[in-house]
Amino acid sequence: MTIIMLDPGHGGFDPGAVRYGLQEKDLTLDIAGKTRAALRPYPVDVFLTRDADIDLELAQRADLANKLGADYFLSLHINAGGGTGFESYVHINASARSLELRDVIHKQVSNFYSSSGFRDRGKKSADFAVLRLTQMPALLLENLFIDLASDAAKLADPVFRQQIAGAIATGLVIAFGLTLIPVPADGQAGEIGN
Ligand SMILES: [Zn+2]
Repeated sequence: MTIIMLDPGHGGFDPGAVRYGLQEKDLTLDIAGKTRAALRPYPVDVFLTRDADIDLELAQRADLANKLGADYFLSLHINAGGGTGFESYVHINASARSLELRDVIHKQVSNFYSSSGFRDRGKKSADFAVLRLTQMPALLLENLFIDLASDAAKLADPVFRQQIAGAIATGLVIAFGLTLIPVPADGQAGEIGN
């Protein structure tokens, strides 16, 4: 079974980016939990590097995925610093497989953000520690900008966060060649029957 490690960025004493009463660490944990729920109907084992508001070093996050033998590592972040929209990162030395999986997931998430009026900032690469230290294909998503009022207003909306999670889950399902189960518009299919 495919093992997916979701990594909610920041946590504990490290709130990540903060603005408009929002903290990056809370948003990433919420989106990760919603993504795990959206994947519940699928034959994948989903783990979170953290399931609570605790701090974890970047190397610890990668170690958790490496020790688990995860097939994929997906780190969730919220951007800041002036801008708007969505972007994805793979490591500068990412494998062909990692690039291939990113293309599929990026497309799904970008389609969702585009349909919501947000721009696609592109497919990028960087020497981020969690991407460098993980031994499996890995991706980092920067989901909108917490310091732009119009982006933050959407991030503050749990229904919108559910839709982000649904788009990420759909991307993972397609990327790993699983059969997509249609979900209602509210994206809650993963919750039904629980
Ligand atoms: Zn971050």
